[in-house]
Amino acid sequence: MIVVMASNATEEQLKAVTEKIIELGYKPHTIRGVERTVIGAVGHEDKTPLYVLEQMPGVESVIPILKPWKLVGREFKPEPTVIEVDGEKIGGEKITVIAGPCSVESEEQVIAVAESVKSAGAAFLRGGAFKPRTSPYSFQGLGEEGLQMLKKAKEVTGLKIVTEVLSVTDIPLIAEYADIIQVGARNAQNYALLNQLGKIDKPVLIKRGMATTIKEYLMAAEYIVSQGNYNVILCERGIRTFEDSTRFTLDLSAVPLLKKYSHLPVFVDPSHGTGYWYLVSPMAKAAIAAGADGLMIEVHPNPKEALSDGMQSLKPEKFAVLMEELRAIATAVGRTL
Ligand code: PEP
Ligand code: MN
Repeated sequence: MIVVMASNATEEQLKAVTEKIIELGYKPHTIRGVERTVIGAVGHEDKTPLYVLEQMPGVESVIPILKPWKLVGREFKPEPTVIEVDGEKIGGEKITVIAGPCSVESEEQVIAVAESVKSAGAAFLRGGAFKPRTSPYSFQGLGEEGLQMLKKAKEVTGLKIVTEVLSVTDIPLIAEYADIIQVGARNAQNYALLNQLGKIDKPVLIKRGMATTIKEYLMAAEYIVSQGNYNVILCERGIRTFEDSTRFTLDLSAVPLLKKYSHLPVFVDPSHGTGYWYLVSPMAKAAIAAGADGLMIEVHPNPKEALSDGMQSLKPEKFAVLMEELRAIATAVGRTL
């Protein structure tokens, strides 16, 4: 339910309504708008109906949220969410680019990539230190040592860090190093992990699972937001279909669809979404044309030698060319890059 407070409602009235929501067994989530304050009251639908709130002083109306997702939906918050990370605004007019290697392999590698993607205009450096590999015998990442290398690269370039968390127990460690914590496709419906990420004060980029419908995906984001962490970024990264000429099928219709249903920023990862470096640039451009707020792109100085995902990694020179080309597309759709 959405409780819309009257424009002249007092702080005491807001407090009384909030307390009543809790008393009725729901959790209040307050958004203070310029015009008026609204409270999202969420909880099990079979609890006492909230229409009693309509009688309380300061309440203008009580409106049901019809969609199964509540706090991440446009019904609750029509205007887009802009997340500020250390001065960088995500979800506004400017498109955000996150670039870097699939895995952190060495200090030299990650610093070389960081310097090149920084000069091409990326705002965030990505790099996995804890890797969710399909085979237990594949390179699993450098762990905390890898996180320290990312920190070094941040010191050298000023780029902010995006890195993946695999388990609940690693959250405090990852949060020390990351500016945005990534949840990978394989953990998109790991509700224990999502609940815990909802309790920390750090933006989360959650990838779409490879077999997750748009509706399930929005419910996954709802898990994080329902715990109080409102800084969530969505990222389409390809889904499983019968097509086997690409690694996954990049579902670009997810971009306008997610933006229609949700106020959260929507990113696209054309690297995992296609699996081949030569498909990354065209799909990155298409993503911006489709309305994406940002991109996540894998870049490696020597893709042939990469310890993971070399086939889908762009060389730094190719990434720099892509960034130039993306500027024109961004301008055409009223954005900047
Ligand atoms: C990654 O970003 O390196 C990664 C493993 O992505 P995904 O979870 O989308 O497969
Ligand atoms: Mn990868």
